[in-house]
Amino acid sequence: MIQITRVASYSAALLAALLITGGAVAEDDGVVAEDDGAVANNDVITTDTHRLQKVADGVYLAQSTARIFNSNALIIINESDVTVIDSHITPTKARGLIASIKQLTSNPITTLINSHFHYDHSHGNQAFGPDVQIIGHEYTRMKMAGKPLEEGTFMRGKAGNIARLTRLQQELDTTEDAERREEIAAQAKVLAAHVEAWNEIDPVAPSVTLNDRLTLFRGSREIQLHFMGRAHTGGDLVVYLPADKLAFTGDMMLQGPSWLGDGYVDEWVQTLENLKGLDFTLMVPGHGSPFTDRKVIDYVQAYYEDLWDQVAKMHKDGTSVADAAKAVDLTSHTNLRITRVGTDPLAVARIYQRLEGAD
Ligand SMILES: [Zn+2]
Repeated sequence: MIQITRVASYSAALLAALLITGGAVAEDDGVVAEDDGAVANNDVITTDTHRLQKVADGVYLAQSTARIFNSNALIIINESDVTVIDSHITPTKARGLIASIKQLTSNPITTLINSHFHYDHSHGNQAFGPDVQIIGHEYTRMKMAGKPLEEGTFMRGKAGNIARLTRLQQELDTTEDAERREEIAAQAKVLAAHVEAWNEIDPVAPSVTLNDRLTLFRGSREIQLHFMGRAHTGGDLVVYLPADKLAFTGDMMLQGPSWLGDGYVDEWVQTLENLKGLDFTLMVPGHGSPFTDRKVIDYVQAYYEDLWDQVAKMHKDGTSVADAAKAVDLTSHTNLRITRVGTDPLAVARIYQRLEGAD
């Protein structure tokens, strides 16, 4: 069933989802993507599982309506087929996405692009079936064809869900208020189904890879895939629609700092400089709302530069990861609404690894 509604913003729902899950992959430091109003009043189609926000002609941002941490997907409807970017977190979530696409168009999905290897963007791949070509960077293929279920991001995500479910069940056991019990039970039911859905995950790696650049010509639409350099992972892709001046930036460019545990903070600033070479007016990130303000790229670059410099100094002084994570002070980055001193220890640990020569 399709409902056409007008919405003011997704930010509240996103924030709720991030809070529920701890926002482990999207971001840290309490930065929450905020809608700048640029596309907030576009028509939105709501399906049983998704909000589909039109961001260009035939192009929709797809966000799950479930209050569970998940990634954005982009649906690109071409003259005779459909290209999808990112497959969500589980096959169940991907099936919801596929069913939602069927409500938009009868064109077949022929192509799926993975922006990067992280589980929340790629572990729905298997739901697309063998006839859909999956495209990703060589690095993404290497990661996904390796041991993706042993990746730190995946294992922490899985353990985090199970821990949250246990906490909810304990809370239920000790709560007497009937209304509150109902709320907790409903949350636990959604989370339990999600935990169960992870058991079905059987990662499928991209079958087509690129190293630098690839262009798809689909009907009259040109879809450019760019590798701009290492950033959030070793193989982040930007998908650029030149006619629409739209860039899907995945997790290498959110409306604030990204999760840095697999990142290349030392190279990221240059990668974002390269991103600025594309002529776009709208960025669709891997999490959160679309945005138009290119100055946000400058703010994020300044944040990474400052973070790198502070952590490098502490590394040189022999400060432990835990102490450095507590001491890093990025509150001068008021443009990004950083209000707390301290940062994610996994980000610091990763920067220490880079300083010690790890790839
Ligand atoms: Zn990611």
